[in-house]
Amino acid sequence: MAGKRSITSLHMKSLLDQHDIESLAEQLQPKPEPQPHHFLPNSKVTQQRTERLWKAIGTAPHPDILDDWTSAHLESFDGNIENFIGSVKLPVGVAGPLRVNGLFAQGDFTVPLATSEAALVASYHRGACMISASGGCTTMVLSQALNRAPAFVFDSMITAAQFAVWAMEIFPKFQEVANATTRHGKLIEFGTTLEGNHVYLNFEFTTGDASGQNMVTIATQAVCDFISEHCPVPIRQLYVEGNLSGDKKASSQAYTSVRGRKVSAEIVITPELLEKYLHATPRQMTDYWRVSAIGGVLSGTMGVQGHFANGLTALYIATGQDAACVAESAIGVTRFEETTEGNLYASVTLPGIMVGTVGGGTGLPSQKACMDLMGLHGSGNSGALAEVCASLLLGGELSIIAALATGDFTKAHHKLAR
Ligand code: NAP
Repeated sequence: MAGKRSITSLHMKSLLDQHDIESLAEQLQPKPEPQPHHFLPNSKVTQQRTERLWKAIGTAPHPDILDDWTSAHLESFDGNIENFIGSVKLPVGVAGPLRVNGLFAQGDFTVPLATSEAALVASYHRGACMISASGGCTTMVLSQALNRAPAFVFDSMITAAQFAVWAMEIFPKFQEVANATTRHGKLIEFGTTLEGNHVYLNFEFTTGDASGQNMVTIATQAVCDFISEHCPVPIRQLYVEGNLSGDKKASSQAYTSVRGRKVSAEIVITPELLEKYLHATPRQMTDYWRVSAIGGVLSGTMGVQGHFANGLTALYIATGQDAACVAESAIGVTRFEETTEGNLYASVTLPGIMVGTVGGGTGLPSQKACMDLMGLHGSGNSGALAEVCASLLLGGELSIIAALATGDFTKAHHKLAR
């Protein structure tokens, strides 16, 4: 977090050009009086409560936030938001059809992407079209697991170790307790991390077709309650999550194992199709990929990839996933090679695709409609959605690498975003 001298000085100078240092210091002081009037927290979405909240804000309902469609669908937002005042509208575009040959996803998918970033949909669309023209990409969900990591504090390392041994012995009971809280979640495994007098138990679950964060939290809380009651050694403190699970953070743990679904996708593309769709040669693509891979290593990224976050965020928002999970999902590896036949081999692997086709925001009206566009809403579809994610990102990697390799990157943004 070190600031460079010249950049920091420039920032300081621009501040001091407009304010003297005493007024800035005054501005930064805490100001306890007068206290603002806080809204009463409100978790139920009704017309009356929404109007009351607008009144408390001190203004009439803004028609671009509380519009007619939103007012007509108020009850569908109940359970997904607190202090509701309306909805924001984000444009949705489509990429594809994207042909996917997966273990779970089979066929052509029109992929909805919600974004306000110009050039994003165009980039994924041309990648998707090229993938489809090549017969589709191959993709596989390689594993599924979601973790929750409760933490326990003991008087000493000796007691902590006694607890860890007990936890390992009694694990089948933990499974029984956790699995009783959900029809679809299953506690499969756990890891133990002992650090001084702290113990972290890293519980790993399968979560059916839900992305599962609520599910594993509820199940883990039940196990923690059981531990509180039956633990043979005194626990000083207990927390349902000790920040070791990697929830909503890029972590090397998620990168080297799995969080959500680990998915890989690959394709081989002929020079003719590469030229037709991306105006590039296999050699241009691999030359730039090599430079970008080393650039990623030098800058310390987790894995090596171009812009997983772009496609994932847009697809997560369109389909009602938790967009904050992009923090943990947008890590992985993109690899390009020229084959001995002169074709381009391209693959992406992501160890942390966090998607569900039930639960969370997936049942909201527009989000469900976007899922329906792909035929992926509801039970039995989460593996397919994860494979569509990886396939879309493969298209996005092909597109951005071609744009950077051929010098089209700036031109495309200039044309589409200015
Ligand atoms: P959820 O809506 O809380 O749970 C999924 C629900 O769907 C469960 O009631 C489950 O029933 C049911 N279900 C029906 N068919 C299913 C199927 N085929 N597979 C799996 N479940 C099925 O959603 P969640 O996925 O657990 O949690 C996602 C939400 O959690 C997101 O909105 C995210 O923002 C939020 N979140 C929560 C935390 C947290 O710590 N609580 C942290 C980060 C994010 P059963 O349980 O009976 O199986």
